[in-house]
Amino acid sequence: MQRLHGVGPHLAARLEKLGIQCVQDLLFFLPLRYEDRTQIVPIGSLRPGQRAVVEGEIQLTEVVYRGRRNLLCRISDGTGGLILRFFHFSRSQQDGLARGKRIRCFGETRPGTGGLQMIHPEYRLLGDTDLAIDDTLTPVYPTTEGLQQGRLRNLTRQALQLVSTGELEEWLPARILDAMKFPGLLEAVTMLHQPPADTDFQAIQEGRHPAQRRMAFEELLAQHLSLRRLRRKIRSEPAAALVDPGAAVADFIASLSYVLTTAQQRVVVELLDDLAKEKPMMRLVQGDVGSGKTVVAAVATVCAAACGRQSAVMAPTELLAEQHAENFRQWLEPLGLETALLTGATKGKTRQQMLEKIADGQVRIVVGTHALFQESVVFDHLALIVVDEQHRFGVHQRLALREKGGGDGRCPHQLIMTATPIPRTLAMTAYADLDVSVIDELPPGRRPVTTVAMPESRRHELVSSIRDACLSGHQAYWVCPLIEESDVLHYEAAEKTADMLAEALPELSLGLVHGRMKSKDKHRVMQAFKEGEINLLVATTVIEVGVDVPNASLMIIENAERMGLAQLHQLRGRVGRGSEQSSCLLLYKPPLTDLAKKRLAVLRETNDGFKVAQADLDLRGPGELLGTRQTGLMQMRIADLIRDADLLPEVHKTATFMMKERPDAVDGLIRRWVGEADRFGKV
Ligand code: ADP
Ligand code: MG
Repeated sequence: MQRLHGVGPHLAARLEKLGIQCVQDLLFFLPLRYEDRTQIVPIGSLRPGQRAVVEGEIQLTEVVYRGRRNLLCRISDGTGGLILRFFHFSRSQQDGLARGKRIRCFGETRPGTGGLQMIHPEYRLLGDTDLAIDDTLTPVYPTTEGLQQGRLRNLTRQALQLVSTGELEEWLPARILDAMKFPGLLEAVTMLHQPPADTDFQAIQEGRHPAQRRMAFEELLAQHLSLRRLRRKIRSEPAAALVDPGAAVADFIASLSYVLTTAQQRVVVELLDDLAKEKPMMRLVQGDVGSGKTVVAAVATVCAAACGRQSAVMAPTELLAEQHAENFRQWLEPLGLETALLTGATKGKTRQQMLEKIADGQVRIVVGTHALFQESVVFDHLALIVVDEQHRFGVHQRLALREKGGGDGRCPHQLIMTATPIPRTLAMTAYADLDVSVIDELPPGRRPVTTVAMPESRRHELVSSIRDACLSGHQAYWVCPLIEESDVLHYEAAEKTADMLAEALPELSLGLVHGRMKSKDKHRVMQAFKEGEINLLVATTVIEVGVDVPNASLMIIENAERMGLAQLHQLRGRVGRGSEQSSCLLLYKPPLTDLAKKRLAVLRETNDGFKVAQADLDLRGPGELLGTRQTGLMQMRIADLIRDADLLPEVHKTATFMMKERPDAVDGLIRRWVGEADRFGKV
């Protein structure tokens, strides 16, 4: 980095925080989006929301008081007028914006009183000499805390001049570059940091430019290789063979109030088979919501316990952890096995005692949230890790737990459970380190949930059907709109809805759960709902995963048009768990876009999570920037598992080829894209 002008220890430290330690890292710190400052846009043609460069003459500058001091500067270019508004400004700044001067500014146009405005635009006053306009699109980098975008652009520009082809090693086989029509590495990197003015703006903004596709391919390949190498490494470690658990497993299964489905039985056999080996199990159990994954996991923990070992069961939310703990306790206590619940809410003396019992092996099964990762949690003989709803945890979090394995140098077995039925090519990438079992059958007697979509204006009709349903003994969920921008707004909305419903339905008993509540309170409400004391549960999406109340048979989801298909399917999975005919009502705010209509139609037409997932993929046309973030699958720098799904078959083939023929390139790629995060995979 010393080769770059202006990089002292201070800046170097900041860069390091972003994971940038050398010139190559800098070049692989890729822009998140772009701005087009290559043209001066006539003011008259500006649209609200547009980010653009404009140039005009200052007509008037004044300080006004509207609640607070504002500096307003009115400019015009002959095609129209625009107001620049500043909330923070100095005297000299105010004086500089003198009437008659020419100004060039860049900012986002917003509608305001008295016409379009730009708030705190970047600006330059123009003198007699012309100011050159940018000849490349302007990259905008991901969060650069304490580092200005301009600084980063400058460093990147220097780095591009310094770097030679030899330094940026091309790890992709030439054959692939040819076949996929990908640009070379240096060319691609240069394009992404300094796209020429004539670049297809739309394509590059959406991540579809060939240079981006090339980088996405490389990143997917690196991630995939890293998982495969990780698998190879873990599988070479010794694990405790959990053989011959005696009658415990059979007794447990016999003690259940139902018979396991054929699919559950098959998966149980696969698990017990894996556990009996001296190699760590690495298995993913996929099964649609309601397919009965929990009990299958419980079988594995019973096996471990009967062999004198401990299991850790991790859930993504406190609510779910509590519910699992409750189930496990009921199942396992009769067998003489002690279980414990450990979450962030377990404090003080209780926590201390629990930690001691875990450390001396008295507690065989520990259920918890990510609090189980904490250093203070020490196991005696941890031999099995169960991770529920894995998409909520990163691969690396999961691996951190693995390090808690038996002090005897043995690696715990891993069982991952997910209800996200992603298509096979995606699974091969996201779970390349895992064997996959599928529970492809629902317990008998389930009736598919009837799903209906209706505009929110028909809300009042619902109120009376909820009344009827609840008075005849059913229970219902009311899921409040998702407000992504703010947690506070989210739970406020839930509180408002609860008030509104309480008023409209005085004869029912109502409960409210949201993420901001203390876990004790949440637990109380859930328990009351479970026991039927609450008829109608108003909730935020905290109930999305795992919550299991079989008597609930009606679900209303507000603002369904704003949620992803996978999420809606998960939510809907909360009903239809008993033998009653259940319904799910999707409320939406009209007008619906064509795409939103198609999405809601998918849910009306099928209850099969796999079909929902496939349709979700098919419906994400180009230009839709929903992505992995929403599905919770792997997060990457430039690639998006969903958007770039078409690259995956070739990624897999290339990976197999490279592991055999180009081990050096495998190392290089992993170092470049996965870097430190891959330390678990290093041999
Ligand atoms: P998920 O796969 O979504 O985690 P759960 O494990 O929560 O599903 O199970 C859903 C419901 O089905 C629970 O109420 C559970 O008791 C019940 N269940 C599980 N297996 C069976 C079975 N073989 N027969 C009947 N009910 C079952
Ligand atoms: Mg579950």
